[in-house]
Amino acid sequence: MGKAGTSGTERTPRGVDVLRDPVLNRGTAFTEAERDALGLRGLLPPHVHTQAEQAERFLVTFRKLTDPLDKFVALNALHDRNEDLFFQILVDHIDEMQPIVYTPIVGLACQKFGQVFQRPRGMFVSIKDRGNIANVLRNWPYQAGIIVVTDGERILGLGDLGAHGMGIPVGKLSLYTACAGIHPTQCLPVTLDVGCNNDAVRNDPFYVGLRQKRVTGAEYDAFIEEFVNAAQEVFPGVVIQWEDFANHNAFRLLENYRDRVSSFNDDIQGTAAVALAGIFSALRVTGAKLTDQRVLFLGAGEAATGIADLVVSAMVAQGMSRDEALLTCWLVDSQGLVVKSRQKLAHHKLTYAHDHQPVTDFLTAIRTLKPTAIIGVAAVGGTFTREVLEEMAKLNERPIVFALSNPTSQAECTAEEAYRWTGGRALFACGSPFDPVQINGQTFVPRQGNNSYIFPGIGLGAIASKAKMITDDMFMKAAHTLAHLVTESDLAQGSLYPALPRIREVSAQIAVATAGAAHAGKYAGRQKPVDLLADIEAQMFDPRH
Ligand code: NAD
Repeated sequence: MGKAGTSGTERTPRGVDVLRDPVLNRGTAFTEAERDALGLRGLLPPHVHTQAEQAERFLVTFRKLTDPLDKFVALNALHDRNEDLFFQILVDHIDEMQPIVYTPIVGLACQKFGQVFQRPRGMFVSIKDRGNIANVLRNWPYQAGIIVVTDGERILGLGDLGAHGMGIPVGKLSLYTACAGIHPTQCLPVTLDVGCNNDAVRNDPFYVGLRQKRVTGAEYDAFIEEFVNAAQEVFPGVVIQWEDFANHNAFRLLENYRDRVSSFNDDIQGTAAVALAGIFSALRVTGAKLTDQRVLFLGAGEAATGIADLVVSAMVAQGMSRDEALLTCWLVDSQGLVVKSRQKLAHHKLTYAHDHQPVTDFLTAIRTLKPTAIIGVAAVGGTFTREVLEEMAKLNERPIVFALSNPTSQAECTAEEAYRWTGGRALFACGSPFDPVQINGQTFVPRQGNNSYIFPGIGLGAIASKAKMITDDMFMKAAHTLAHLVTESDLAQGSLYPALPRIREVSAQIAVATAGAAHAGKYAGRQKPVDLLADIEAQMFDPRH
């Protein structure tokens, strides 16, 4: 991979420099010939252990750890030592590793970021770098193809964690590599440090960020603008994924930049695609039409409005008018049902503020609106109560129940509760992983409606086609593609998503759909290859030696 802003005259690394560089280091897996060529004789014990053997060794110790945070630290340390081995373990054990490198454990890791911090990863660009951001980015040693950037203001459902939100872009980019084979050196995690308004985080003696309140308004906007321009200057065409920004910035940034640079917001658009795919799968079970659904959201933020927007687009694509489609989606926030008569509604909620009497609580909203689907994205744990679930089961033969809030402590209900209180009839998806559930002798295998089914493939497709922008059409196509990959036996056991070990196949197909959309829309930056799938697969990094 090319280096950013370098002359290309550096010496090829040898000896300890190789062993200390996690991109180059393969530990005891270096072959005899490589040891000679790279000056490693004597620096390694004599026996060559293959990478597969090294993976086994790592897993023996790793699986003895009982504290999930210790597991996170162990994986992180491996990432810092030997990237190929780290990614091989992620790819081969994605079911076991994804919940640790990403949700839900990454949430805990961000909360404890200052304590478990060992070695920096990615780039911290602070408000103090204003006027100099391009030079700061030139310190990155590789040519980035995709940036995941956060300002840490709304990390998962955990609020403002400031610079400690860095765990999220790092974890997410690990999944871009593991799930879609985007080369690790193409992945750049960035935290924009504009301060932190959470006193407890900022006053923590181990806090790694600026000890000041958040910069807002015009100064904030100018900082973001400089960052986007600098990123495009240093890494031309780089894809930017906005991550975990608070509502008041997330929607604006998406709108401001989506037509200017290749960019998207996974919290809004990726979530929308994965949820719509889950609905498509549920409808394969019931045989009902999308246009006959009524969807009630608990939560009215990025996830809720993102999903609602894509559901509406999908209904419109199936022949419904936009006005009719909008009336199938309703939001409940902390003040109750979002209705037109409410004062001072945030801008992003207005589209779904319908004419209706005020309703103060979720259960009454269910009784009043009789939804076919409820989607929990409020980050308030336990809100899909027994009464809520029983009411949904009373109203629907097969109620669609998605409890998507993260981490596990914020989940609206557990899988066990969803199945138990609907008599095993819920078509259930979750945001955090849950074990299979036995009810009345039947085993249900709930699967996470995890955005990782979507964003790695979108990123790969955008990079492969050099897409100049990332469109809603791509997310719609991604949702269809994902739902088609769910098998009949998945559905029979209650799984609305494919098994996670198929993730690289899923990502490749979503990348094909994404690149195909870019070529069809004439916003690809290269000629369409004859065989898109072969072209995509040829670009996928495989860490397994
Ligand atoms: P957000 O902050 O944009 O939105 C949260 C919304 O919940 C806000 O509209 C807020 O008003 C509302 N809310 C707060 N308290 C409430 C209450 N007591 N009752 C009803 N509504 C309440 O956050 P977001 O990006 O929309 O994410 C929400 C949750 O969904 C998070 O936990 C996030 O981790 C999770 N999520 C999961 C997935 C997934 O599983 N694929 C994807 C995205 C987000």
